[in-house]
Amino acid sequence: MIVAIDGPAGSGKSTTAKGVAEKLGFLYLDTGAMYRAATAAVLAASIDSDDELAVSDCVETIEIDFDETGRLIFLNGEDVSQTIRGQEVTQNVSTVSAYPQVRKRMVSMQRGIAGHRDSVVEGRDIGTVVFPNADFKFFIVASIEERAERRQKDLAGLGVDQTVIDIVEDLKRRDALDSSRDVSPLTKSEDALEVDTTSMNIKQQIDLIVRHVRDRSARKET
Ligand code: C5P
Repeated sequence: MIVAIDGPAGSGKSTTAKGVAEKLGFLYLDTGAMYRAATAAVLAASIDSDDELAVSDCVETIEIDFDETGRLIFLNGEDVSQTIRGQEVTQNVSTVSAYPQVRKRMVSMQRGIAGHRDSVVEGRDIGTVVFPNADFKFFIVASIEERAERRQKDLAGLGVDQTVIDIVEDLKRRDALDSSRDVSPLTKSEDALEVDTTSMNIKQQIDLIVRHVRDRSARKET
């Protein structure tokens, strides 16, 4: 069974997806972390992220793995879980992830990792492109102010100090790039259930999705 969770940065999608996977006992796959690891590889090779050909060639050769919790990510065997949350990667990831060859490689890896087991997969194009036949599709949204405040807390936890104003600018820039790209733009799949988390806490978000999945699965069985 595939549970697809899409939405913009800071919508609460990652924390929700992790919690849902834990409660259901499913594999958790963070596809944003994969695009970030690909971007880290590009930067480590001193490739300009605007150089589509060089970026695509570089991403073609990388290996990405996760630990069994899905929370640690390894690039060519090296743990890059911290590096991929840094400023440099965040600033370049939307450029790198817009290239068709990069997306092709990532989508194929994602289907390989999650395609054959019960999984909660989070990203931007999971319900539309990666798993269009997913059993459940959710599209998570929240107000930009709430998203920026959540991101600020996440970053503070990683020891990164950034103002809400700067974060709002970064979120708007990434939203625009992610929504306007030609290949698999960020968009809600027609059959996805939209969940507005602006005034919800994490527990409420997780419970809502888990309840929905369990109720519908039980109904299908009877
Ligand atoms: O989810 P997160 O904010 O970590 O994702 C980082 C970036 O990776 C996004 O801004 C987007 O550019 C890209 N991404 C994507 N498709 C996905 C997941 C993430 O293009 N399925």
